[in-house]
Amino acid sequence: MTNNSVKNPSVAVIGAGMTGILMAVRLREAGITDITILEKADKVGGTWRENTYPGVACDVPAHMYTYSFRGNPEWEHRFAHGNEIQDYMETVAREYGVTDTVRFNESLDECHYRDGKWHLTTSLGNSLVVDFVVAATGILHHPAYPDIPGMDSYRGDMFHTARWNHDVSLEGKRVGIIGTGSTATQVISTIAKTAGHLTVFQRTPQWVCSVPDKVYSEADKAKLRGNQKLMSKLSERYAFAFRNIFTAAVTGNKLAHAFVNWATRRNLRKSVRDPELRAKLTPDYKVGCKRLIFSSTFYQEIQRDTVSLETTAIERISERGVVTKDGTEHELDVLILATGFNPFNFMRPMNLTGRDGLSIEQAWEKKVQAYRSVCLPGFPNFFLMLGPNTPIGNYSVIAMSEVQTNYVLKLIDHWRRGRLGSIEATEEAKVRYNEYIKAGMGKTVWVGGCQSWYLDADGDPAMWPYSWEQWVKELDEPVLDDFRQDSPARTAPQEVDLPTPAKRAA
Ligand code: NAP
Repeated sequence: MTNNSVKNPSVAVIGAGMTGILMAVRLREAGITDITILEKADKVGGTWRENTYPGVACDVPAHMYTYSFRGNPEWEHRFAHGNEIQDYMETVAREYGVTDTVRFNESLDECHYRDGKWHLTTSLGNSLVVDFVVAATGILHHPAYPDIPGMDSYRGDMFHTARWNHDVSLEGKRVGIIGTGSTATQVISTIAKTAGHLTVFQRTPQWVCSVPDKVYSEADKAKLRGNQKLMSKLSERYAFAFRNIFTAAVTGNKLAHAFVNWATRRNLRKSVRDPELRAKLTPDYKVGCKRLIFSSTFYQEIQRDTVSLETTAIERISERGVVTKDGTEHELDVLILATGFNPFNFMRPMNLTGRDGLSIEQAWEKKVQAYRSVCLPGFPNFFLMLGPNTPIGNYSVIAMSEVQTNYVLKLIDHWRRGRLGSIEATEEAKVRYNEYIKAGMGKTVWVGGCQSWYLDADGDPAMWPYSWEQWVKELDEPVLDDFRQDSPARTAPQEVDLPTPAKRAA
């Protein structure tokens, strides 16, 4: 290999959602041409393609929820609606030549590491042998269905928010919704206007922060068109505020927490006058322990005459509706399950085995963990995007993905230049990393005694407990000592000239 030539790996990217699109763009930019993108559905977009429930929107400001290299002057709302984001994803994928190369309606069933390569079998029975696999499969995409007795007996329409049945009209109907998380509050704020009667089944109240939405005018958009610099500036301004208020508040900054605590309590006090309803809506855990809800309309809508908040626990589902523990049967035409997701499934259920036949179930038998969120000991040349301890919180998941993508590309670059035979974090590095994570957890609000989807089976938050800046800094350069040095490449992939300079597809 000459100094100015590098190995050209073959890479399979699983999923063409926000991260898959980004990864494809970045890999190409790095001069990697042998990329296969498998997508289970018939469109790009991931979560924004799948979640089409009424009111679906992003609760992170739109200008912050954009790829850093492709601002979007056309955002209609400060908190972009689901269809705007889906359009944006489709536009970026098209502009950057990603869409044309995606193999749609083809998911990955089998993924096995043998002799230095990944051997893949897809749902269409196609086989593929590649150097790298990137699981860009997202976090919140396996709907969690509640295990309530009698679910099968219900005769009305029932569906999960992530599988919304648009054939069912809610107008004038008796509608019930189970859950009061980020999804439910968006749904409630929207369908309360048209349902005949809406019963909200709340198990645990949530803290709600009011950040008003805004509709961008033609003049606002015109100012931004063609001005990536201005859009980046706007994005950074929002990001700065979110980092220093919301991220700081949950990761130990007392002043920031006091502020958010004050703002949410004030919001509840000012918005809900009826003391009985207010008491029902008041959580008994620290602000931010569960993911903070952003809504400027939820409290208003829950106070409609046609909406009731039911806080008695659910006993069972009957043929006609929901029976609560006090014996009341709430008769319903439609029952909506806003019950969240199983976040620890990640890339599963694919059948994934790494070195020496180690299965992902075996690797994660005791705990779902990774090294720096993306690397799994025993699974060389495999990257799990947005893996455990990605610092989700109330921040832009696109920004998180961009940081991880740069990290993965730097690792692949080490492989291309022959500095690492294969990329596999050591077990020791993973253990050390997770001890470091655990050490920081004590000062966060997530260990504040509430139940949330942030917690794993042991009750440990799968979050990043330090600052955003710290995370970015630590992922800037891979520490090669944390990777196995004893795994030389067993095959000699094709060499290519170094791309000079890196060029985007656009
Ligand atoms: P979630 O936060 O996990 O909320 C699930 C809700 O269902 C909770 O209120 C939970 O009650 C309730 N629930 C679950 N099982 C139940 C049962 N058996 N009986 C009664 N209640 C039950 O799920 P989510 O609202 O879908 O939100 C998940 C995440 O998706 C968010 O935190 C966020 O990260 C993301 N999201 C983002 C946006 C956005 O705008 N960016 C929008 C929607 C969602 P308990 O609280 O008692 O467990």
